[in-house]
Amino acid sequence: MSISNQEVQKKQFVVISGGPDSTTLLNEVIRANVPQNIPTEAIFINFGQPYLLHELTSARIVANAAKVRLNEIVVPGLTHALIGQGEFGYIIFRNIIEASYGIASSFARFNGGDVLYHANIKEDVDDLPWLPEFFTRFAATINSIADGHELKIQSPYLALPKAEVFEHADEMGVNLRSTWSCLRAGTVHCGECRSCLRRKQAFEQSGAKDETLYDK
Ligand SMILES: [Zn+2]
Repeated sequence: MSISNQEVQKKQFVVISGGPDSTTLLNEVIRANVPQNIPTEAIFINFGQPYLLHELTSARIVANAAKVRLNEIVVPGLTHALIGQGEFGYIIFRNIIEASYGIASSFARFNGGDVLYHANIKEDVDDLPWLPEFFTRFAATINSIADGHELKIQSPYLALPKAEVFEHADEMGVNLRSTWSCLRAGTVHCGECRSCLRRKQAFEQSGAKDETLYDK
């Protein structure tokens, strides 16, 4: 099985969270890959996060709309260890854990991937200034295993503010209505948490229509 996997045609993987940034990136990568017949697949990492159902539902809708396979990786032990430590129970360093691709890069590499995309944006870099260098070093580290297979780590939105990502989605005709941003596990977006505020602001600044249902 492992041998045949190495012979599979190269693929590109995009880590998605069900949020607007990774939804935009997934659609952009697909648009770039389809004319060249490069297969694209999505990866969703299930930590059992409190708002998992919303994120997973959104990720499924997004992948389905984009007509790509969604690979759900369940990491229950990690959830048990990390859940509940941050505000609203979010996972501290989630973007590092997830986007560092210790998990996703291993999956992508094993399944014939040669490029792995993540959708961290400028605001993420504002929060974590070493992120770009971290990814560069991370890619160099995993590729220092000289087995002849390189997995490129691409993060094309690192300099892009969220509003520009939304603008980009709008230009491509990608509807962000089904995406999920809220850190709370309510029935609709709370409209008050940091992530909801950033979502609202990005819609306002981008001029894209905000069809999100907010509690407030
Ligand atoms: Zn919220």
